[in-house]
Amino acid sequence: MAFEGLTEKLSAAFKRLRGKGRLTEADVKEAMKEIRMALLEADVNFKVVKQFVATVTERAVGSDVLESLTPAQMIVKIVNEELTALMGGESTKLTISPKPPTVVMLVGLNGAGKTTNGAKLAGFLKKQGKRPLLVACDTFRPAAITQLEVVGGQVDVPVFQMGQIDPIDIARAGIEHAKSHGNDIVFIDTAGRLHVDQELMDQLRDMKAAIDPTEILLIVDAMIGQDAVNAAKAFDEALDITGVMLTKLDGDARGGAALSIKAVTGKPIKFVGQGEKLDQVDIFYPDRMASRILGMGDVLSLIEKAQQTFDAKKAAELEEKLRKNRFTLADFYDQLVQLKSMGSLTDIAGMLPGVNGKALEGASVDESALSRTEAIILSMTPAEREDPSLLNNSRKKRIAAGSGTQVVDINRLLKQFEMMQQMSKQFSGKQLKRMGKMGKL
Ligand code: GDP
Repeated sequence: MAFEGLTEKLSAAFKRLRGKGRLTEADVKEAMKEIRMALLEADVNFKVVKQFVATVTERAVGSDVLESLTPAQMIVKIVNEELTALMGGESTKLTISPKPPTVVMLVGLNGAGKTTNGAKLAGFLKKQGKRPLLVACDTFRPAAITQLEVVGGQVDVPVFQMGQIDPIDIARAGIEHAKSHGNDIVFIDTAGRLHVDQELMDQLRDMKAAIDPTEILLIVDAMIGQDAVNAAKAFDEALDITGVMLTKLDGDARGGAALSIKAVTGKPIKFVGQGEKLDQVDIFYPDRMASRILGMGDVLSLIEKAQQTFDAKKAAELEEKLRKNRFTLADFYDQLVQLKSMGSLTDIAGMLPGVNGKALEGASVDESALSRTEAIILSMTPAEREDPSLLNNSRKKRIAAGSGTQVVDINRLLKQFEMMQQMSKQFSGKQLKRMGKMGKL
Protein backbone atom coordinates (compact mmCIF):
# COMPACT_ATOMS: atom_id res chain seq x y z
CA MET A 1 0.00 0.00 0.00
CA ALA A 2 1.25 3.48 -0.85
CA PHE A 3 2.70 5.87 1.72
CA GLU A 4 3.45 3.26 4.37
CA GLY A 5 6.83 4.64 5.37
CA LEU A 6 5.67 8.23 5.18
CA THR A 7 2.65 7.59 7.35
CA GLU A 8 4.79 5.87 9.91
CA LYS A 9 7.41 8.63 10.06
CA LEU A 10 4.91 11.46 10.17
CA SER A 11 3.00 9.70 12.93
CA ALA A 12 6.21 9.36 14.92
CA ALA A 13 6.99 13.07 14.50
CA PHE A 14 3.50 14.07 15.59
CA LYS A 15 3.59 11.70 18.53
CA ARG A 16 6.73 13.39 19.82
CA LEU A 17 5.06 16.78 19.43
CA ARG A 18 1.96 15.65 21.28
CA GLY A 19 4.05 14.31 24.12
CA LYS A 20 5.40 17.78 24.74
CA GLY A 21 2.22 19.64 25.63
CA ARG A 22 3.24 23.25 25.09
CA LEU A 23 5.41 23.80 22.06
CA THR A 24 8.21 26.20 21.33
CA GLU A 25 9.37 27.37 17.95
CA ALA A 26 12.37 25.06 18.34
CA ASP A 27 10.04 22.04 18.81
CA VAL A 28 8.26 22.93 15.58
CA LYS A 29 11.54 23.33 13.72
CA GLU A 30 12.67 19.93 14.99
CA ALA A 31 9.42 18.32 13.85
CA MET A 32 9.72 20.03 10.46
CA LYS A 33 13.16 18.53 10.03
CA GLU A 34 11.65 15.10 10.54
CA ILE A 35 8.81 15.86 8.13
CA ARG A 36 11.30 17.07 5.56
CA MET A 37 13.30 13.84 5.85
CA ALA A 38 10.16 11.73 5.70
CA LEU A 39 9.00 13.45 2.50
CA LEU A 40 12.41 13.15 0.86
CA GLU A 41 12.56 9.47 1.74
CA ALA A 42 9.12 9.08 0.19
CA ASP A 43 10.77 10.33 -3.01
CA VAL A 44 8.91 13.61 -3.12
CA ASN A 45 10.58 16.15 -5.42
CA PHE A 46 13.08 18.15 -3.33
CA LYS A 47 11.85 21.56 -4.49
CA VAL A 48 8.33 20.55 -3.56
CA VAL A 49 9.54 19.43 -0.13
CA LYS A 50 11.35 22.71 0.45
CA GLN A 51 8.31 24.77 -0.42
CA PHE A 52 6.00 22.53 1.58
CA VAL A 53 8.10 22.67 4.74
CA ALA A 54 8.45 26.45 4.44
CA THR A 55 4.68 26.91 4.14
CA VAL A 56 3.86 24.59 7.02
CA THR A 57 6.54 26.17 9.24
CA GLU A 58 5.28 29.64 8.52
CA ARG A 59 1.75 28.69 9.43
CA ALA A 60 2.76 26.57 12.44
CA VAL A 61 4.92 29.09 14.22
CA GLY A 62 2.15 31.67 13.92
CA SER A 63 1.40 32.79 17.45
CA ASP A 64 -2.17 31.51 17.58
CA VAL A 65 -1.01 27.97 16.82
CA LEU A 66 1.70 27.67 19.44
CA GLU A 67 -0.44 29.38 22.05
CA SER A 68 -3.49 27.26 21.36
CA LEU A 69 -4.51 24.57 23.82
CA THR A 70 -3.62 21.80 21.42
CA PRO A 71 -0.69 23.01 19.32
CA ALA A 72 0.31 19.52 18.15
CA GLN A 73 -3.16 18.86 16.80
CA MET A 74 -3.19 22.23 15.09
CA ILE A 75 0.06 21.32 13.36
CA VAL A 76 -1.37 17.99 12.18
CA LYS A 77 -4.31 19.95 10.82
CA ILE A 78 -2.01 22.33 8.97
CA VAL A 79 0.02 19.47 7.51
CA ASN A 80 -3.20 17.80 6.43
CA GLU A 81 -4.43 20.96 4.71
CA GLU A 82 -1.12 21.61 3.02
CA LEU A 83 -0.79 18.01 1.80
CA THR A 84 -4.27 18.32 0.33
CA ALA A 85 -3.34 21.60 -1.35
CA LEU A 86 -0.12 20.06 -2.65
CA MET A 87 -2.07 17.33 -4.42
CA GLY A 88 -4.45 19.85 -5.97
CA GLY A 89 -7.06 20.58 -3.30
CA GLU A 90 -10.35 19.48 -4.81
CA SER A 91 -10.69 16.39 -6.96
CA THR A 92 -10.73 17.26 -10.65
CA LYS A 93 -13.29 15.55 -12.82
CA LEU A 94 -12.89 14.40 -16.38
CA THR A 95 -14.07 17.16 -18.71
CA ILE A 96 -17.11 16.06 -20.64
CA SER A 97 -17.56 17.68 -24.04
CA PRO A 98 -20.92 19.44 -24.51
CA LYS A 99 -20.88 18.02 -28.01
CA PRO A 100 -20.44 14.24 -27.78
CA PRO A 101 -18.35 12.27 -28.07
CA THR A 102 -15.88 13.33 -25.41
CA VAL A 103 -12.50 12.30 -26.77
CA VAL A 104 -9.82 11.23 -24.29
CA MET A 105 -6.35 10.65 -25.67
CA LEU A 106 -4.40 8.30 -23.42
CA VAL A 107 -0.67 8.89 -23.62
CA GLY A 108 2.33 7.56 -21.74
CA LEU A 109 5.44 5.43 -21.75
CA ASN A 110 5.34 1.70 -22.48
CA GLY A 111 4.43 -0.35 -19.47
CA ALA A 112 2.86 2.58 -17.61
CA GLY A 113 -0.48 0.83 -17.91
CA LYS A 114 -2.14 2.75 -20.77
CA THR A 115 -3.97 -0.18 -22.28
CA THR A 116 -5.09 -1.74 -19.01
CA ASN A 117 -6.14 1.55 -17.50
CA GLY A 118 -7.92 2.67 -20.67
CA ALA A 119 -10.14 -0.36 -20.17
CA LYS A 120 -10.43 0.37 -16.43
CA LEU A 121 -11.60 3.92 -17.14
CA ALA A 122 -13.99 2.80 -19.87
CA GLY A 123 -15.48 0.19 -17.51
CA PHE A 124 -15.68 2.74 -14.70
CA LEU A 125 -17.58 5.24 -16.87
CA LYS A 126 -19.81 2.53 -18.29
CA LYS A 127 -20.94 1.76 -14.74
CA GLN A 128 -21.89 5.42 -14.45
CA GLY A 129 -24.17 5.14 -17.46
CA LYS A 130 -21.83 6.30 -20.21
CA ARG A 131 -21.40 4.46 -23.52
CA PRO A 132 -17.64 4.30 -24.03
CA LEU A 133 -15.64 3.16 -27.05
CA LEU A 134 -12.00 2.12 -26.96
CA VAL A 135 -9.95 2.93 -30.06
CA ALA A 136 -6.77 0.95 -30.75
CA CYS A 137 -4.18 3.43 -32.05
CA ASP A 138 -1.09 1.79 -30.57
CA THR A 139 0.22 0.41 -33.83
CA PHE A 140 3.82 0.52 -32.58
CA ARG A 141 3.62 -2.43 -30.20
CA PRO A 142 2.40 -5.46 -32.20
CA ALA A 143 0.39 -7.08 -29.40
CA ALA A 144 -1.29 -3.88 -28.24
CA ILE A 145 -4.42 -4.20 -30.38
CA THR A 146 -5.18 -7.74 -29.24
CA GLN A 147 -4.46 -6.73 -25.64
CA LEU A 148 -6.95 -3.87 -25.89
CA GLU A 149 -9.55 -6.20 -27.37
CA VAL A 150 -9.06 -8.62 -24.48
CA VAL A 151 -9.34 -6.04 -21.69
CA GLY A 152 -12.14 -4.21 -23.52
CA GLY A 153 -14.03 -7.51 -23.66
CA GLN A 154 -13.52 -8.02 -19.95
CA VAL A 155 -15.21 -4.72 -19.12
CA ASP A 156 -17.76 -5.21 -21.89
CA VAL A 157 -16.74 -2.11 -23.85
CA PRO A 158 -16.46 -2.25 -27.67
CA VAL A 159 -13.02 -1.84 -29.24
CA PHE A 160 -12.55 -0.12 -32.61
CA GLN A 161 -9.49 -1.19 -34.59
CA MET A 162 -8.18 -1.07 -38.15
CA GLY A 163 -4.96 -3.02 -37.74
CA GLN A 164 -1.54 -1.43 -38.21
CA ILE A 165 -2.44 1.54 -40.44
CA ASP A 166 -1.70 5.22 -39.68
CA PRO A 167 -2.86 5.87 -36.09
CA ILE A 168 -4.29 9.28 -36.96
CA ASP A 169 -6.57 7.69 -39.57
CA ILE A 170 -7.68 5.12 -37.00
CA ALA A 171 -8.38 7.81 -34.41
CA ARG A 172 -10.46 9.85 -36.88
CA ALA A 173 -12.39 6.80 -38.03
CA GLY A 174 -12.90 5.72 -34.41
CA ILE A 175 -14.45 9.06 -33.52
CA GLU A 176 -16.76 8.86 -36.56
CA HIS A 177 -17.69 5.32 -35.53
CA ALA A 178 -18.54 6.58 -32.04
CA LYS A 179 -20.77 9.31 -33.51
CA SER A 180 -22.69 6.88 -35.67
CA HIS A 181 -22.99 4.24 -32.93
CA GLY A 182 -24.05 6.45 -30.04
CA ASN A 183 -20.81 6.17 -28.05
CA ASP A 184 -20.53 9.32 -25.94
CA ILE A 185 -16.94 8.90 -24.77
CA VAL A 186 -13.96 7.67 -26.76
CA PHE A 187 -10.65 6.54 -25.28
CA ILE A 188 -7.78 6.62 -27.76
CA ASP A 189 -5.05 4.17 -26.80
CA THR A 190 -1.85 5.58 -28.31
CA ALA A 191 1.63 4.16 -28.75
CA GLY A 192 4.32 4.56 -26.12
CA ARG A 193 8.09 4.17 -26.00
CA LEU A 194 10.44 2.93 -23.33
CA HIS A 195 11.69 6.48 -22.74
CA VAL A 196 10.52 9.95 -23.60
CA ASP A 197 11.58 10.50 -27.20
CA GLN A 198 11.14 13.16 -29.84
CA GLU A 199 9.58 10.93 -32.49
CA LEU A 200 6.83 9.86 -30.08
CA MET A 201 6.11 13.42 -29.00
CA ASP A 202 5.90 14.57 -32.63
CA GLN A 203 3.45 11.79 -33.45
CA LEU A 204 1.29 12.57 -30.45
CA ARG A 205 1.35 16.28 -31.27
CA ASP A 206 0.20 15.50 -34.81
CA MET A 207 -2.61 13.36 -33.47
CA LYS A 208 -3.65 16.09 -31.04
CA ALA A 209 -3.81 18.59 -33.91
CA ALA A 210 -5.80 16.18 -36.05
CA ILE A 211 -8.48 15.11 -33.55
CA ASP A 212 -8.61 18.02 -31.08
CA PRO A 213 -9.27 15.83 -28.01
CA THR A 214 -11.31 16.97 -25.02
CA GLU A 215 -8.71 15.54 -22.65
CA ILE A 216 -5.14 14.33 -22.94
CA LEU A 217 -4.68 12.05 -19.98
CA LEU A 218 -1.14 10.98 -19.18
CA ILE A 219 -0.87 7.51 -17.70
CA VAL A 220 2.16 7.25 -15.39
CA ASP A 221 3.49 4.48 -13.23
CA ALA A 222 3.76 5.57 -9.58
CA MET A 223 6.39 2.93 -8.90
CA ILE A 224 9.03 4.82 -10.87
CA GLY A 225 8.82 7.72 -8.40
CA GLN A 226 10.64 10.85 -9.56
CA ASP A 227 10.94 9.44 -13.09
CA ALA A 228 7.15 9.57 -13.22
CA VAL A 229 7.31 13.25 -12.33
CA ASN A 230 9.95 13.85 -15.01
CA ALA A 231 7.87 11.98 -17.60
CA ALA A 232 4.84 14.05 -16.62
CA LYS A 233 6.86 17.22 -17.11
CA ALA A 234 8.11 16.13 -20.54
CA PHE A 235 4.67 15.06 -21.80
CA ASP A 236 3.12 18.24 -20.48
CA GLU A 237 5.68 20.45 -22.17
CA ALA A 238 5.15 18.67 -25.48
CA LEU A 239 1.38 18.18 -25.40
CA ASP A 240 -0.11 20.44 -22.73
CA ILE A 241 -1.83 17.48 -21.05
CA THR A 242 -5.10 18.03 -19.17
CA GLY A 243 -4.54 15.54 -16.37
CA VAL A 244 -2.78 12.49 -15.05
CA MET A 245 -3.78 8.99 -14.12
CA LEU A 246 -1.33 7.51 -11.66
CA THR A 247 -1.17 3.73 -11.91
CA LYS A 248 0.29 0.99 -9.70
CA LEU A 249 -0.21 3.03 -6.55
CA ASP A 250 -0.76 -0.33 -4.88
CA GLY A 251 2.84 -1.30 -5.55
CA ASP A 252 4.42 2.00 -4.61
CA ALA A 253 5.20 2.09 -0.92
CA ARG A 254 6.65 5.60 -1.05
CA GLY A 255 4.09 7.73 -2.85
CA GLY A 256 6.44 10.49 -3.99
CA ALA A 257 4.91 10.81 -7.46
CA ALA A 258 1.41 11.35 -6.10
CA LEU A 259 2.73 14.14 -3.90
CA SER A 260 4.85 15.86 -6.55
CA ILE A 261 3.05 15.72 -9.90
CA LYS A 262 0.56 18.53 -9.36
CA ALA A 263 3.15 20.82 -7.80
CA VAL A 264 5.70 20.21 -10.58
CA THR A 265 3.44 20.21 -13.64
CA GLY A 266 0.43 22.17 -12.44
CA LYS A 267 -1.73 19.40 -13.89
CA PRO A 268 -4.11 17.47 -11.64
CA ILE A 269 -4.11 13.75 -10.95
CA LYS A 270 -7.62 12.75 -11.93
CA PHE A 271 -7.58 8.99 -11.42
CA VAL A 272 -5.51 6.36 -9.67
CA GLY A 273 -5.04 2.71 -10.54
CA GLN A 274 -4.58 0.55 -7.49
CA GLY A 275 -4.22 -2.99 -8.79
CA GLU A 276 -4.10 -5.19 -11.84
CA LYS A 277 -7.81 -6.02 -11.76
CA LEU A 278 -9.93 -3.99 -14.11
CA ASP A 279 -12.18 -2.59 -11.39
CA GLN A 280 -9.22 -1.26 -9.38
CA VAL A 281 -9.62 2.34 -10.50
CA ASP A 282 -10.61 5.31 -8.37
CA ILE A 283 -11.15 9.01 -8.72
CA PHE A 284 -8.25 10.80 -7.03
CA TYR A 285 -9.34 12.82 -4.00
CA PRO A 286 -6.44 14.89 -2.60
CA ASP A 287 -8.14 15.42 0.77
CA ARG A 288 -8.82 11.73 1.28
CA MET A 289 -5.30 10.84 0.20
CA ALA A 290 -3.87 13.37 2.67
CA SER A 291 -5.93 11.86 5.50
CA ARG A 292 -4.71 8.45 4.51
CA ILE A 293 -1.08 9.59 4.50
CA LEU A 294 -1.52 11.00 7.98
CA GLY A 295 -2.98 7.73 9.23
CA MET A 296 -6.32 9.43 9.74
CA GLY A 297 -8.05 6.91 7.53
CA ASP A 298 -10.15 7.32 4.46
CA VAL A 299 -13.57 6.75 5.85
CA LEU A 300 -15.32 8.41 2.92
CA SER A 301 -13.85 5.98 0.40
CA LEU A 302 -14.74 3.12 2.69
CA ILE A 303 -18.35 4.27 2.89
CA GLU A 304 -18.50 4.63 -0.88
CA LYS A 305 -17.13 1.14 -1.35
CA ALA A 306 -19.75 -0.19 1.04
CA GLN A 307 -22.45 1.72 -0.83
CA GLN A 308 -21.36 0.22 -4.11
CA THR A 309 -21.26 -3.24 -2.64
CA PHE A 310 -24.15 -3.57 -0.26
CA ASP A 311 -27.47 -3.35 -1.87
CA ALA A 312 -30.16 -1.46 -0.01
CA LYS A 313 -32.83 -4.10 -0.57
CA LYS A 314 -30.65 -6.80 0.94
CA ALA A 315 -29.88 -4.56 3.91
CA ALA A 316 -33.60 -4.08 4.55
CA GLU A 317 -34.23 -7.83 4.30
CA LEU A 318 -31.40 -8.45 6.71
CA GLU A 319 -32.82 -5.97 9.17
CA GLU A 320 -36.17 -7.72 9.00
CA LYS A 321 -34.59 -11.12 9.58
CA LEU A 322 -32.57 -9.89 12.52
CA ARG A 323 -35.67 -8.32 14.01
CA LYS A 324 -37.60 -11.56 13.75
CA ASN A 325 -34.59 -13.56 14.79
CA ARG A 326 -34.69 -15.47 11.55
CA PHE A 327 -31.10 -14.80 10.56
CA THR A 328 -29.68 -18.07 9.21
CA LEU A 329 -26.32 -19.40 8.17
CA ALA A 330 -27.37 -18.73 4.58
CA ASP A 331 -27.70 -15.02 5.43
CA PHE A 332 -24.42 -15.16 7.26
CA TYR A 333 -22.85 -16.50 4.08
CA ASP A 334 -24.42 -13.69 2.03
CA GLN A 335 -22.84 -11.16 4.36
CA LEU A 336 -19.46 -12.82 4.01
CA VAL A 337 -19.66 -12.68 0.24
CA GLN A 338 -20.61 -8.99 0.30
CA LEU A 339 -17.78 -8.23 2.68
CA LYS A 340 -15.28 -10.06 0.50
CA SER A 341 -16.44 -8.30 -2.65
CA MET A 342 -15.45 -4.98 -1.07
CA GLY A 343 -11.83 -5.97 -1.60
CA SER A 344 -9.20 -7.56 0.54
CA LEU A 345 -9.59 -7.10 4.26
CA THR A 346 -6.15 -5.53 4.41
CA ASP A 347 -7.24 -2.90 1.86
CA ILE A 348 -10.39 -2.17 3.83
CA ALA A 349 -8.54 -1.98 7.13
CA GLY A 350 -6.06 0.43 5.53
CA MET A 351 -8.86 2.91 5.05
CA LEU A 352 -9.71 2.96 8.73
CA PRO A 353 -8.38 5.74 10.96
CA GLY A 354 -5.28 4.84 12.90
CA VAL A 355 -4.60 1.71 10.89
CA ASN A 356 -1.77 1.70 8.42
CA GLY A 357 -0.25 -1.08 6.40
CA LYS A 358 2.65 -1.44 8.80
CA ALA A 359 0.36 -1.89 11.77
CA LEU A 360 -1.40 -4.64 9.87
CA GLU A 361 1.68 -6.77 9.41
CA GLY A 362 1.18 -9.85 11.51
CA ALA A 363 -2.14 -8.55 12.73
CA SER A 364 -5.16 -10.76 12.75
CA VAL A 365 -6.78 -9.82 9.47
CA ASP A 366 -7.25 -13.47 8.74
CA GLU A 367 -8.55 -13.86 5.21
CA SER A 368 -8.00 -17.61 5.24
CA ALA A 369 -10.39 -17.93 8.21
CA LEU A 370 -13.01 -16.16 6.12
CA SER A 371 -12.46 -18.55 3.23
CA ARG A 372 -12.72 -21.52 5.63
CA THR A 373 -16.02 -20.22 6.96
CA GLU A 374 -17.24 -19.76 3.41
CA ALA A 375 -16.21 -23.31 2.48
CA ILE A 376 -17.98 -24.76 5.52
CA ILE A 377 -21.25 -22.99 4.80
CA LEU A 378 -21.06 -23.94 1.13
CA SER A 379 -20.68 -27.62 2.09
CA MET A 380 -23.96 -27.57 4.03
CA THR A 381 -27.29 -28.47 2.51
CA PRO A 382 -29.83 -25.62 2.23
CA ALA A 383 -31.84 -27.24 5.06
CA GLU A 384 -28.78 -27.26 7.32
CA ARG A 385 -28.09 -23.60 6.58
CA GLU A 386 -31.65 -22.75 7.61
CA ASP A 387 -31.57 -24.92 10.72
CA PRO A 388 -28.14 -25.63 12.21
CA SER A 389 -29.70 -27.79 14.93
CA LEU A 390 -29.83 -30.55 12.29
CA LEU A 391 -26.08 -30.77 12.47
CA ASN A 392 -25.34 -34.00 14.31
CA ASN A 393 -21.90 -35.55 14.40
CA SER A 394 -22.15 -37.49 11.17
CA ARG A 395 -23.37 -34.42 9.27
CA LYS A 396 -20.52 -32.40 10.74
CA LYS A 397 -18.02 -35.04 9.60
CA ARG A 398 -19.46 -34.91 6.10
CA ILE A 399 -19.21 -31.11 6.00
CA ALA A 400 -15.65 -31.17 7.35
CA ALA A 401 -14.65 -33.61 4.61
CA GLY A 402 -16.44 -31.53 1.98
CA SER A 403 -14.85 -28.24 3.04
CA GLY A 404 -11.39 -29.48 3.86
CA THR A 405 -11.75 -28.50 7.51
CA GLN A 406 -12.08 -30.23 10.88
CA VAL A 407 -15.15 -30.80 13.01
CA VAL A 408 -13.71 -28.35 15.56
CA ASP A 409 -13.80 -25.61 12.88
CA ILE A 410 -17.46 -26.33 12.31
CA ASN A 411 -18.19 -26.26 16.03
CA ARG A 412 -16.37 -22.95 16.34
CA LEU A 413 -18.40 -21.44 13.53
CA LEU A 414 -21.65 -22.69 15.04
CA LYS A 415 -20.68 -21.21 18.39
CA GLN A 416 -19.96 -17.82 16.79
CA PHE A 417 -23.21 -17.98 14.90
CA GLU A 418 -25.12 -18.82 18.07
CA MET A 419 -23.53 -15.84 19.82
CA MET A 420 -24.54 -13.60 16.96
CA GLN A 421 -28.10 -14.83 17.20
CA GLN A 422 -28.17 -14.21 20.92
CA MET A 423 -26.85 -10.72 20.40
CA SER A 424 -29.49 -10.00 17.83
CA LYS A 425 -32.17 -11.17 20.27
CA GLN A 426 -30.94 -8.63 22.78
CA PHE A 427 -31.15 -5.74 20.37
CA SER A 428 -34.00 -3.39 20.92
CA GLY A 429 -36.05 -2.32 17.93
CA LYS A 430 -34.39 1.08 18.04
CA GLN A 431 -30.88 -0.31 17.85
CA LEU A 432 -31.87 -2.47 14.94
CA LYS A 433 -33.26 0.51 13.11
CA ARG A 434 -29.93 2.22 13.54
CA MET A 435 -28.10 -0.82 12.26
CA GLY A 436 -30.44 -1.01 9.30
CA LYS A 437 -29.57 2.58 8.49
CA MET A 438 -25.91 1.78 8.71
CA GLY A 439 -26.41 -1.15 6.36
CA LYS A 440 -28.09 1.14 3.85
CA LEU A 441 -25.64 3.96 4.49
P1 GDP B 1 0.98 -0.02 -21.56
O1 GDP B 1 2.24 -0.51 -22.18
O2 GDP B 1 1.15 1.38 -21.05
O3 GDP B 1 -0.22 -0.17 -22.42
O4 GDP B 1 0.79 -0.88 -20.23
P2 GDP B 1 -0.16 -2.11 -19.93
O5 GDP B 1 -1.57 -1.66 -19.89
O6 GDP B 1 0.19 -3.23 -20.81
O7 GDP B 1 0.26 -2.44 -18.41
C1 GDP B 1 1.54 -2.90 -18.04
C2 GDP B 1 1.45 -3.77 -16.80
O8 GDP B 1 1.07 -3.03 -15.68
C3 GDP B 1 0.40 -4.88 -16.95
O9 GDP B 1 0.95 -6.08 -16.44
C4 GDP B 1 -0.74 -4.41 -16.07
O10 GDP B 1 -1.48 -5.48 -15.54
C5 GDP B 1 0.00 -3.66 -14.99
N1 GDP B 1 -0.83 -2.63 -14.32
C6 GDP B 1 -1.57 -1.65 -14.90
N2 GDP B 1 -2.17 -0.89 -13.96
C7 GDP B 1 -1.82 -1.38 -12.75
C8 GDP B 1 -2.11 -1.01 -11.39
O11 GDP B 1 -2.82 -0.04 -11.08
N3 GDP B 1 -1.53 -1.78 -10.42
C9 GDP B 1 -0.73 -2.84 -10.71
N4 GDP B 1 -0.21 -3.54 -9.70
N5 GDP B 1 -0.44 -3.21 -11.98
C10 GDP B 1 -0.97 -2.50 -12.98
